[in-house]
Amino acid sequence: MSILRCPATRSTMALRSMMALRSAAALLAGTALLAGCAAGPVGGLAEPSIPPTAISSTASSGPASSSGPATSSGPATSSGPAGPGIAPSAVAGAGGPKAHHGWSEADIPVFAPAPVPERVILPGTDGSAPYLSRVPTAQKVAFITIDDGYLKHPEAPALLAAAHVPVTLFLTADAVREDPDYFRPLIDAGAVVEAHTISHPDLRGTSYATQKHQLCGSADELAGWFTRRPVLFRPPYGNKDATTLRAAHDCGLKAGFMWRETVHKGKVRYQGEHRVQPGDVILMHFREAFPADFLAALRAIRKAGLTPALLEDYVA
Ligand SMILES: [Zn+2]
Repeated sequence: MSILRCPATRSTMALRSMMALRSAAALLAGTALLAGCAAGPVGGLAEPSIPPTAISSTASSGPASSSGPATSSGPATSSGPAGPGIAPSAVAGAGGPKAHHGWSEADIPVFAPAPVPERVILPGTDGSAPYLSRVPTAQKVAFITIDDGYLKHPEAPALLAAAHVPVTLFLTADAVREDPDYFRPLIDAGAVVEAHTISHPDLRGTSYATQKHQLCGSADELAGWFTRRPVLFRPPYGNKDATTLRAAHDCGLKAGFMWRETVHKGKVRYQGEHRVQPGDVILMHFREAFPADFLAALRAIRKAGLTPALLEDYVA
């Protein structure tokens, strides 16, 4: 859809100029990022599977900045529970620092400005959407993707806004339906919403009609809530077959995405070399450890000398 390009490009430009203004004094070392989340069974390939019913609606109480190698643990970091009722960015006092729960602004790495995106020509696939786990680019960028949306972490909007980096959200329609407004500040902060089915089933082996309903139906619903219709998709658990790619193609989805790295409980898990490579797609979720996971992803990208970029600027 033509409405994609302008908002995405504008937000990227704005983010780039904001990042250029930031001080380099807050660089984080990121020296101890270890793989080891409780992800899927094979080398981090499978999407960490947490059924919606197993997810608590209570946000993490952990001081996320202490779970990684962050050098800062600001006084604003709370040791108490950060429940859903806590405002994302309560102001400590007039002109004082903002109080966040599980992170502080000093935890956020500073990146080199992102390059001007070089669009990638996707291979022709004769009636099927292409499926990738990274963007074939040599530019010094990596892509953060955040899945599902069942758990609406109260810190996510403020953290994303403070980080000034673009992300792609693969949202499950059933998770959005209960509170679409939760995601609007994230979109305002640079997130772009893509399709992740209606009810998060394992699509592999199911009928064309089922897969088309799940993929296309979620794209239509997301378009209804957020105006822009998704052009990318991710099948739940990364499980797909030829029917998935055909169904996605038939309702206008341009490409599906796996991932190269996963983040869970503040740890980055790599499939190969313990370093994010240019063009890599990183997977995390809306989970209780959202601040720790997001900061771990940022630190891994920074440690690799890369800058977060927007997937849709490259492939949509
Ligand atoms: Zn998912």
